[in-house]
Amino acid sequence: MNLMNSWLPLAFLFCSFVYMMIPVVMSRVLGLGVYKKGKQSQQAEVAFTFDDGPDPCYTPELLDLLKQFEVKATFFVLGSKAEQYPDLIRRIHDEGHQIGIHNYTHTCNLVICPWKIKRQHIDRTADIIEAIIGERPSSYRPPWGILNLADLLWLRKSYQIVLWSVMGWDWKRQESSHKLTDRLLRNIKPGSIVLLHDSGDTAGADVDAPKQMLEGLRIVLQELKSKPYSYVRTDKLLHKRVVSGYRMDQNIHSSRHIKSRII
Ligand SMILES: [Zn+2]
Repeated sequence: MNLMNSWLPLAFLFCSFVYMMIPVVMSRVLGLGVYKKGKQSQQAEVAFTFDDGPDPCYTPELLDLLKQFEVKATFFVLGSKAEQYPDLIRRIHDEGHQIGIHNYTHTCNLVICPWKIKRQHIDRTADIIEAIIGERPSSYRPPWGILNLADLLWLRKSYQIVLWSVMGWDWKRQESSHKLTDRLLRNIKPGSIVLLHDSGDTAGADVDAPKQMLEGLRIVLQELKSKPYSYVRTDKLLHKRVVSGYRMDQNIHSSRHIKSRII
């Protein structure tokens, strides 16, 4: 009995490691089971993505900026905020951007039961978005990009899990817009998926950090005018990977859904 008691904490630690750390390494580091970037094609496509919104202060300003530079982007939104600001969700959709899911609230998947993540966060948010725009989202990005083992094995059968290849590190105020600009200009290349935030009210972020993000993004888009890039939604960027054999476990519904929106 004593021997069993001494092994229990070790067994718990081992299971926690398998459940939490292995999927983080698989997805965040190795990109297994998720999409981190598109193919480097001659079209030189880049996908800007914006997490944690919609935000009544910064999302409208961002949409104006994207329109000015003819950028189509992807917004991974929180279900609770979509519920609060349906007009912003409608505007994002009407202006040709893609809407993906970023949980109902900004909660880490490691502290939620897998069935609750799908039912109470992802499917719930999909229902809210579908009720607003009449179209069901098929892309998902977990908060902080953190998946557990069950997510990795299960969620990707229903949703296209999209992470990123270029991180803006834009959620803190002390990040000057020049540092952000330099980082993005140095790292963006054909096929990049760029992670930025249009809201600063999640844990660890600064409320007014998106202001600097907007300043930096304006400079980046201006600078990149000399490059032959086109700025697309992630479903368009990843379409080539999905149909050319890189597709992981997308179900037929999602694949058909993605195709119908691209054509
Ligand atoms: Zn987030």
